[in-house]
Amino acid sequence: MDIVFHGAAGEVTGSSHLVEIAGKRVLLDCGMVQGDRNADERNAADFPFDPASIDVLVLSHAHIDHTGRVPLLVKRGFSGPIFTHPATIDLAAIMLGDAAHIAQMDTERDNRHLPPGQRPFMPLYTQDDVDAAVKSMRPVEYAAPIEILPGVRLTLRDAGHILGSATVEIEALENGASRKLAFSGDLGPDHTPILCDPMPVPAADLVVMESTYGDRLHKAREDTIAELGSIFAAAHKDGGNVVIPAFAVGRTQELLYFFAEHFDAWNLGAFKLFLDSPMAIRVTGAYDRHENLFDDAARTLWATRPHPLRLPNLTLTEDGAASRAINAIHDHAVIIAGSGMCTGGRIRHHLRHNLANRFAHIVFVGYQAVGTLGRTLVDGAKHVRLFGNDVPVRARVHTVGGLSAHADKGGLSAWYGKIAGHPPVCLVHGEDPGRSRLADELKSRWGGRVALPMPGTRVTV
Ligand SMILES: [Zn+2]
Repeated sequence: MDIVFHGAAGEVTGSSHLVEIAGKRVLLDCGMVQGDRNADERNAADFPFDPASIDVLVLSHAHIDHTGRVPLLVKRGFSGPIFTHPATIDLAAIMLGDAAHIAQMDTERDNRHLPPGQRPFMPLYTQDDVDAAVKSMRPVEYAAPIEILPGVRLTLRDAGHILGSATVEIEALENGASRKLAFSGDLGPDHTPILCDPMPVPAADLVVMESTYGDRLHKAREDTIAELGSIFAAAHKDGGNVVIPAFAVGRTQELLYFFAEHFDAWNLGAFKLFLDSPMAIRVTGAYDRHENLFDDAARTLWATRPHPLRLPNLTLTEDGAASRAINAIHDHAVIIAGSGMCTGGRIRHHLRHNLANRFAHIVFVGYQAVGTLGRTLVDGAKHVRLFGNDVPVRARVHTVGGLSAHADKGGLSAWYGKIAGHPPVCLVHGEDPGRSRLADELKSRWGGRVALPMPGTRVTV
């Protein structure tokens, strides 16, 4: 069994690894590159293999950097089955549909400014391509091994990262001997709200694991809770809205969970709560449909507190008019809206209406990449440009850490440490120095033999 690394090798997006086994080809993930200056070009480029030569695709989870090029793979000739967890099918249908919609809008905008005679741009893929991809998806439950090719077995285990996220084990007989590859996908931290902790992988001949936060230790979650509580206390006392830019998948549902858990302590009954993101509303619906995947604490909370997804004073604003109506509220509104880094979406309207108010609170609960409006605000800008206007920043801007969907250095190391015999490991989905620091940790703590593959690196299992 061989594995060739084609994406997220030395970077954190574009996950894609090709497993070759007994003359068959299994692709693990088919993600988009995000955040890179040449991302559009790289996502539209030829695949480094013939899509028609792939027999089977396996998806670890629904995040776009793991699934975003799947419709393109199908459009360019892949016709095999796509195996993944049922919740990932649910989420991927929503997220890939959103990606197709954005591509369509961007193309229409670009085509409006074309010089005469130039051929119009085409979107990377359309909703029809997404529908074709989703139709090829086959559900696989956690810890239920299935044969995906003659003599090749697939096992998914809960990775605790987002709903439906999985570690992937591929096992096959080659020349009478069994070989097993374990791919971590993205690993969540232990004790993350709603989701179960990552399930350990019992054994493997080669481990491919993520290293996003390989050099970092997350802040304790209790500190995060206390910080959020003090923001709501201040907002309640002074008036002013609380505006939270949040990602649609995971972080939004986590916030709603905390709202339910601390509903009385944070005096949330005194606020009007808004989830102002059609995509986050659809994703929250998907969480609702997969309650069987929640951990014990979430099930208890669900049973005894206001249901996090149906809080009594929570309004889901699907259409634009309902979203615009929020602009008339100047105090005691809590508004969760995307995009998470304020690069687009409805959050920009809410910032425009709240940034100048010194009683308003802007609360960042996720990573803000360099060059985004979110990062500009986190870095303390006194003025920002929004919709062509100069907007003074008088609101209080908070950066609340400790809500990562990724395990930190300690969590990653502990996950690896549970695998019998500490097999050779290839670290992916990480940049340096995080990746090399995790390599040092796995070597010194567990005696692991660690490789840092680059695009095109081939390793024999
Ligand atoms: Zn992910």
